[in-house]
Amino acid sequence: MSRRAVIAGGSIGGLFAAAMLRKSGWAVDVFERSDVELSGRGAGIVTHAELLDALTFCGAGTKDLGVTVEKRVAFDFEGNPVRQIDFPQIVTSWDRVHTLLRRIIPGNHHHLNRQITGYRQDASGITVTFSDGSDLDADILVGADGFRSSVRGQMHPQVKPVFSGYVVWRALANESDIPEAIHKRVFDKFGFYLPAGNQIIGYPIAGPGNDLRPGHRRYNFVWYTAVGQDKLTKMLTDATGRTHTMSIPPPLIRADVLSDMYSKARATLSRPFVELLDRSERPFFTPIYDHASPGLNDGRVALCGDAAIVARPHVGMGVTKAACDARVLAEMLDTFASIPEALAAYSDDRCGKGYNAFIRSRELGSYIFGDTDSQANKDGRNNPNIETIMRDTAVTTA
Ligand SMILES: Cc1cc2nc3c(=O)[nH]c(=O)nc-3n(C[C@H](O)[C@H](O)[C@H](O)COP(=O)(O)OP(=O)(O)OC[C@H]3O[C@@H](n4cnc5c(N)ncnc54)[C@H](O)[C@@H]3O)c2cc1C
Repeated sequence: MSRRAVIAGGSIGGLFAAAMLRKSGWAVDVFERSDVELSGRGAGIVTHAELLDALTFCGAGTKDLGVTVEKRVAFDFEGNPVRQIDFPQIVTSWDRVHTLLRRIIPGNHHHLNRQITGYRQDASGITVTFSDGSDLDADILVGADGFRSSVRGQMHPQVKPVFSGYVVWRALANESDIPEAIHKRVFDKFGFYLPAGNQIIGYPIAGPGNDLRPGHRRYNFVWYTAVGQDKLTKMLTDATGRTHTMSIPPPLIRADVLSDMYSKARATLSRPFVELLDRSERPFFTPIYDHASPGLNDGRVALCGDAAIVARPHVGMGVTKAACDARVLAEMLDTFASIPEALAAYSDDRCGKGYNAFIRSRELGSYIFGDTDSQANKDGRNNPNIETIMRDTAVTTA
């Protein structure tokens, strides 16, 4: 009889874990607390060779994965290129990766509106508990339930995400709305603007419905900007006066928060990026937090993806790290007869690699704060870290 895995979380980490374990012959059930299919997270995702290998290996494939950009270009305030490097890379979207994985998980083993609340275990198995009062027996539990993971909350109650001191504003502009001169200058490049106190990157992704045809794609705009804790608390407060913890649903961002952002963008950003922002659908922000679990296993329980360790988005490793976690988890369970030994070996392998991504992403993020009072880098031309940022952003540390 197949060994049985329960997976908490049906986002990319959970689906990768499900796909890898199914390939190894496990009976797998995915439990996602959202009551609707996950979609439209709107994020651009940078790919790495390890991600492409993992998608192929688990059977999801890489069909129509994304757009290939050939060059990285940094612009100054006026939009003139100040540095350029050749750097071919496929950029995709959260939706595309999710769709490829979701297709290979049978519907009767994928459960929406099911929230896992905890677990208890002994030498013979694990019992997973749900918010509706039910429970389920299995051989392992995989906590792929994101950076606020309940599974990690039970495994490592002392680990709490810590605010980094900045937020990321994101927006998507339809290719067909971008004026020709701006399109020619920025659209098919991985673009940077790096003035003191900010980091802006952007790149093309598929249009709605994964449309990769020229003229139908979108430009993914990402702006990291410093925000103090007091200001963040105000930004997380909606129009009814409710302050949300950690992040706020995009439709609830107040109009005055958006209007402050547009004013700052006009004063701060390189001209082509302002044009792109002006043509984007409603932008939204996400505070950047990080955390690193000291270990990824507890007997029959393993943590994967963002539940395990969050590397800030500068390294573009979240999806690739989740894929590598899942692959190594399945390999270790194939290698060791004892489940606790397999999960300990998994943790030994993946914890250090996750931690490397965590450290590198914090270093890249720290450049946002470098010399913020200096007049020397008001226009993005003289950032002392420009070469490092262009070379190391969205580069694997796996
Ligand atoms: C601005 C930005 C840019 C990014 N760029 C990149 C990039 O270029 N490349 C890249 O690889 N990554 C990038 N990422 C990160 C990437 O989106 C995540 O790392 C990736 O989605 C892996 O997440 P996950 O599946 O582990 O967790 P999540 O995506 O957070 O999913 C966790 C899931 O678990 C569910 N859940 C939570 N609690 C429970 C529970 N108790 N029971 C059941 N279900 C539960 C949630 O509803 C959610 O669906 C970026 C992130 C941001 C913010």
